[in-house]
Amino acid sequence: MIPIIISSLGLVLIVYLGIGFAVGGRATGIDDLLPMGRGKQARVNNSAEFSASTVATTISFAMVIMAFFDLAAWFGIWLLWTVVTTAGGLLFVRFFAGKIWDKMNSYERKPTLHEFLGSQYDSGALAHVGAVCTSLGFLGAFAAELTVGSIFFRDLLPGIAPWVIVLVLSTVAFLYTAIGGFRAVIVTDRVQMFSIWLLLLSLPTFYCYYIFTHGGWSVCFANIPEGTLTFSTQGRVGLLSFMLGIFVINVPTYLSDMSVWQRIAGAQERETVTRGLFRGVFSASVTWGALVMLACMVFMIVTPPDGENPLITLLKTVSQTSGILAPVVMFIIVIGLYGAMLSTASTQLIAVSQTLYVDIFSKYVKHIPEGRERSRKELIISRWILVIAAITSTILVQVFTIAGFTIKDLVFAIYGSQLGLCPLVLMALLGKGEKLKKLSTSAVIALSSGFIVGWGTAIYAQVVGDGTLIFLAPVFSLAASSLFLVIGIVVASCKQKEHVNWILIKSVWRARRKGLYRIVPADKPMRLDCLMDRCSICCDSIGTPVITPEEAKRIGDDAVMKSDDAMFIRSNDCVCPFLKKGLCSIHAIRPNSCREYPWYNIDGRLYYDKGCPGVKYDKDERPTVTDIEPFERFFPKKQGLLVRLTKAICVKRY
Ligand code: SF4
Ligand code: SF4
Repeated sequence: MIPIIISSLGLVLIVYLGIGFAVGGRATGIDDLLPMGRGKQARVNNSAEFSASTVATTISFAMVIMAFFDLAAWFGIWLLWTVVTTAGGLLFVRFFAGKIWDKMNSYERKPTLHEFLGSQYDSGALAHVGAVCTSLGFLGAFAAELTVGSIFFRDLLPGIAPWVIVLVLSTVAFLYTAIGGFRAVIVTDRVQMFSIWLLLLSLPTFYCYYIFTHGGWSVCFANIPEGTLTFSTQGRVGLLSFMLGIFVINVPTYLSDMSVWQRIAGAQERETVTRGLFRGVFSASVTWGALVMLACMVFMIVTPPDGENPLITLLKTVSQTSGILAPVVMFIIVIGLYGAMLSTASTQLIAVSQTLYVDIFSKYVKHIPEGRERSRKELIISRWILVIAAITSTILVQVFTIAGFTIKDLVFAIYGSQLGLCPLVLMALLGKGEKLKKLSTSAVIALSSGFIVGWGTAIYAQVVGDGTLIFLAPVFSLAASSLFLVIGIVVASCKQKEHVNWILIKSVWRARRKGLYRIVPADKPMRLDCLMDRCSICCDSIGTPVITPEEAKRIGDDAVMKSDDAMFIRSNDCVCPFLKKGLCSIHAIRPNSCREYPWYNIDGRLYYDKGCPGVKYDKDERPTVTDIEPFERFFPKKQGLLVRLTKAICVKRY
């Protein structure tokens, strides 16, 4: 079988390298390599490509196929939970996909996920921290993929030294991704999906052949460990933690996944994204579901020795089977698995490449050449960044593996620590610009805490030897990030409310000091003859008038502050910003509350500010009380205490 395995590996190698060189040969600048919106090459052309490519990113050789076969004896049919949550995750992104596409297209150049977050929260630090988290996560996942791949092929090709396998696998992945860029990844993703479908046809064919030649269905079915095909919970230690961990990994994570954002950036039409994701939900459900069933049924064919992944045992069985079917099946399986590994690796590499180049490298280079998107030098730099990052990460994963981390540990640690981005993305898509900018610091804290808690949980689980705690790393990471973001939102909202209330209290204090806010019933004839710029103390001390939304639109958003349901002119230390040289600079469109001064409607009775020096008692020009807004309107609705206090101090009811 070794010639069959080597020839199928060689075929994949030639096809993927061929695609990389063919696509890369046409690249003239960095924007042909990375989906930045201007190049002609770095694109996703239609919804079929989008769907195939997105689903291919979800099917990792190490973290899905090998993991399913590894966990089948432990969780059995419960692995279908991963299918449900993956479909749910893609649907979740589908819900926001149109909005993401619209937002990306509002930028001059399509931003990376981290640039988008940085600009929404107005925080360069957030973009940097986000880029570091994504890079570490994706590089870790890439290296884990490579490590598992090398172990797998080492077992299949015992005569070849492991370091040769790692070298070949990594060189192919680096080469075609660095040379072909994003477009090569999209094309090879389609090839991967095709080879996965072939694999999903060939494996059941071999199962049927084997069952038929080894005693029939009932004999082989009896070999499946008890409970594998039932939803029983008995003896399934850590099932709840696993389900929780998988839920938070699969459902929210795609929303903050740089590779999904790259595909959205590469799409030229909105429908490419929305339709592509919809097709992706169906395609992922069928593919993942079939893989789970194959993993659970593998025990009909093999009984793996302790510590060996059943997929490896299965391939050994295929290789020992005589007849023409076995070599054909082996050829297809190796193509499918190697393709799955390479496509996942290249997806991760290209995501890291753009993150490192755009979000980190470009920000530190002081003299970026004009039109750098078309610069060949930048193209070469970005390719080198990719290769160096990938080599570093491979070394790092080897260090973690030596430290005792299994691939399962790494998967949960890597995805766990990345989930910190998710609440921030959600908030950036749902929140409003001004509010987000007030959260810039808490966003950085939330993201960093998610990362630290994710890795902290994984390392702690490793130290204490708790095999199920690792499943909760994503849950804790997401919880920490969400918690800090919520705390940030609460603090920002309290600050804003306190700010408005504090200004109102100061206004009352200042007005009283200047002789205003002596509010008494307007029971006798009187009129207002405003002294204008010879006085202006009302605008100078109670210059935070309440305004309506229509007035806010006329005045301009920059001059407005909000608290609960009320809006006010943003005063400078109680002085109205529109007061210029003692006169109102927006006199013609001034708010109604300014027009009403010094009259007040308190509990349906007309009052006035006796302190206003413009009030004259020579004739009666008092307004009708019903034409004046109630006194409470000058305060935010929820501030009953503030209204009562102001009334008690400033209003005389004789
Ligand atoms: S305090 Fe009275 S007189 Fe003075 S500017 Fe205001 S309304 Fe006119
Ligand atoms: S808007 Fe005009 S009238 Fe009203 S407080 Fe400001 S300066 Fe005075």
